[in-house]
Amino acid sequence: MAIIGAGPAGLMAAEIAAAAGLRVAVYDHTPTPARKLLLAGRGGLNLTHSEPLDRFLSRYGAAEPLFRRLLAGFSPDDLRGWAAGLGIETFVGSSGRVFPVQMKASTLVRAWLRRLDGLGVTLHSRHRWTGWDDTGALTFRHGAFDQEGETVTVAPRATLLALGGASWPRTGSDGGWVPLLEGLGVEVAPLAPSNMGFEVPWSDHLRDRFAGQPVKSVGLSAAGKRLKGEFVITETGIEGGAVYALSAPLRDAIAAEGWATLTLDLLPDMAEAELVKRLRRRGAESLSTFLKKSLSLTGPRAALLREFAPAADLTDPVALARQIKGLSVVLTGVRPIERAISSAGGVRLSELDDRLMLIRRPGLFLAGEMLDWEAPTGGYLLQGCFAMGVAAGKGMVEWLR
Ligand SMILES: Cc1cc2nc3c(=O)[nH]c(=O)nc-3n(C[C@H](O)[C@H](O)[C@H](O)COP(=O)(O)OP(=O)(O)OC[C@H]3O[C@@H](n4cnc5c(N)ncnc54)[C@H](O)[C@@H]3O)c2cc1C
Repeated sequence: MAIIGAGPAGLMAAEIAAAAGLRVAVYDHTPTPARKLLLAGRGGLNLTHSEPLDRFLSRYGAAEPLFRRLLAGFSPDDLRGWAAGLGIETFVGSSGRVFPVQMKASTLVRAWLRRLDGLGVTLHSRHRWTGWDDTGALTFRHGAFDQEGETVTVAPRATLLALGGASWPRTGSDGGWVPLLEGLGVEVAPLAPSNMGFEVPWSDHLRDRFAGQPVKSVGLSAAGKRLKGEFVITETGIEGGAVYALSAPLRDAIAAEGWATLTLDLLPDMAEAELVKRLRRRGAESLSTFLKKSLSLTGPRAALLREFAPAADLTDPVALARQIKGLSVVLTGVRPIERAISSAGGVRLSELDDRLMLIRRPGLFLAGEMLDWEAPTGGYLLQGCFAMGVAAGKGMVEWLR
């Protein structure tokens, strides 16, 4: 059998199928495998999350029923056990997220590739999948990454496509598969950025003084969702964990309206009534000195207040408290998919059967980020891809038998 795409989903399916005794060949067009997994390792490699399963599953939104089934076959605990089997101990961070103790991916990837090699999995790098020939065989362009090369054809009994989405295309996932599957009549939801930054038309002053700085411990709300966290001010807008968690509804609002409002609570641990009381105590002190001394509202948080609160509200304690607790930041655009952590859209789940096989093309399986689901950061993406790899690997074994 052939697996195209040497990311977490493809390699996991390869492990399952090879361990079941099948001959597995993995193809990827990059010179080395698992590039996006290695990139994720730069951020510490958040493998999964330790929260209760129902809460975990709610992160997959409309795709929750699929992931309920997938995680029954490969749970967060199974993922930690699998990593431990590769010699990678994991720990639960203060946020509940699960990381390898070493906070990187390279050791895990090396150990995993050794295991796959031991199972007889062959890895064919620099093979770009280009479709099928007239006989139905897979066609590849074999050569340097992104260059012309000779055509190679392969006719396996079953194929898994695990080609990823379209974020960070230099890791290999460039979405080039979309027209190939659409050519089969497969319905593909347009690929869109997910877990990405947004554009904010900053004043020169705010951009020059605060680009690159984190805004810590603030409340963020949009589309009825509220959370506490931090984000970073960038040259063009905002990015970071708390923003990513709200990125799906904000992206959809911008697509519909051209803009979206993110509401910030700059002092999430203080009730509005208490804030009004304190603001009323301000005497002759300047506003910035008072905010700093009495409310510890300094740096980027104070700058955001100045940037977005109407000047008239700064002098009235009730209006000012309302601004501090609910500052509207208008987002005018979405940062490009090339810089997003993941992508939304992909092959519609209704195209697949329970084994992740394409209904209209028996023997062709799909897994990972190329399918139409999305989840916030927090380990849900990798957990989802690994679990899909397990399900597709088992599905292929079952189908071939
Ligand atoms: C900066 C960054 C940090 C991240 N951090 C985390 C994190 O901490 N936790 C988390 O859960 N998730 C994280 N993610 C997301 C996670 O890495 C992805 O969701 C996951 O790698 C997707 O796995 P996949 O196997 O579906 O696809 P990919 O990992 O994208 O692999 C797809 C493979 O297919 C190959 N391919 C594509 N097209 C072709 C073709 N035509 N021919 C041959 N080969 C092809 C590509 O070269 C690639 O190797 C992060 C992502 C980024 C960008």
